[in-house]
Amino acid sequence: MAESMSRVDLHVHTTASDGTMSPTEVVRYAKEKGLRAMAITDHDTVEGIEEGVQEGERLNLEVIPGVELSVDFPKGTMHLLGYYIDPNCAELADKLVVVQQARAERNIKMIKKLQGLGIEIDFSEVKKFSEHGQIGRPHFAYIMVQNGYARNIQDAFDRFLCKGGPAYVEKLKFPPEEAIGFIIKAGGIAVLAHPFTLNQPKEKELEDLVVELKEKGLEGIEVYHPEHTEGQKRFYRYLAQRHGLFISGGSDFHGLTKGGVDLGNGYGDMGLPYSMVEELKTRRRVRFAGI
Ligand SMILES: [Zn+2]
Ligand SMILES: [Zn+2]
Repeated sequence: MAESMSRVDLHVHTTASDGTMSPTEVVRYAKEKGLRAMAITDHDTVEGIEEGVQEGERLNLEVIPGVELSVDFPKGTMHLLGYYIDPNCAELADKLVVVQQARAERNIKMIKKLQGLGIEIDFSEVKKFSEHGQIGRPHFAYIMVQNGYARNIQDAFDRFLCKGGPAYVEKLKFPPEEAIGFIIKAGGIAVLAHPFTLNQPKEKELEDLVVELKEKGLEGIEVYHPEHTEGQKRFYRYLAQRHGLFISGGSDFHGLTKGGVDLGNGYGDMGLPYSMVEELKTRRRVRFAGI
């Protein structure tokens, strides 16, 4: 009974991407929260995995090596989670290097655009953040607020940094089938993260998309996410069951500063069971057995 009650969180960020806790800190925090397993799923990087897994071994907490890839999907935001990826897979590492380089170039372009708009923002100011993982638009917004160019972060996004805004530069993203392919090649299980960000309000369209992604190798859907409504959860669960997909879930934890979302709990009621991890492991075994 105690066993089946133990909880997991399959969507967690660290300072390797845009979280505020280092992999060690977040694993320690998971232990404090009484979690039995968690997945480290940083945006487009596997840098945090080794440290997290080691700390997990030390504390007897299962840390699943994962990643969250940004995928090209013009209608909305598509993120794919990859569970049990091999962080040393050369092919995945090569692709992630391409993404990181593109990210660095994009940042320079955005700073130049901001400067062109009369906003004094210096790259050295931005660089101060770089020792703590990836740099991106939230950091620019923060500096703009500090320097008096925006009232708050939201204002900086609304007037300058949002998609289509005057300082916005497109991000490099891989098409869904390629991203799923990278995850599979690295030995991972591909799962569609927080489907609501796809911006597909019609259920039929979302279902068609899920079927299409499944044909490319998708194996699961993130049903439980703090931003999902009850209705969304119901529909995503139905989709998963109807199409034989793994039901995943996690808090998308970025640290205690972000909007009251807590590790393992989301807004307080998540409580995801360890059976989720067992199912992931079964899927892995089936994959390796070639069934
Ligand atoms: Zn995401
Ligand atoms: Zn995430």
